[in-house]
Amino acid sequence: MNQNDLPEIDYARCDRCELCITSCPEDALMMTDQGPTFKLPHSCTYCLACENACPTAAIRAPLTVTWKSD
Ligand code: SF4
Ligand code: SF4
Repeated sequence: MNQNDLPEIDYARCDRCELCITSCPEDALMMTDQGPTFKLPHSCTYCLACENACPTAAIRAPLTVTWKSD
């Protein structure tokens, strides 16, 4: 996983509920004073569990669709 592809966290929307952290099957997130951050960024599989768990849409995993040309 390219670190630039990690889910993005909008701290202005985050209420620090920790649901993203407890939902992550890879234990890739940790809480800080500011909000969640990645403690194991290379463990992220982009599964979207954190995005689905977040009640305020503060953590989101933007997807980019690319077409491969032959
Ligand atoms: S996308 Fe999945 S693996 Fe990555 S931080 Fe969110 S819950 Fe964890
Ligand atoms: S689930 Fe959303 S609101 Fe809760 S700590 Fe994570 S990013 Fe913040």
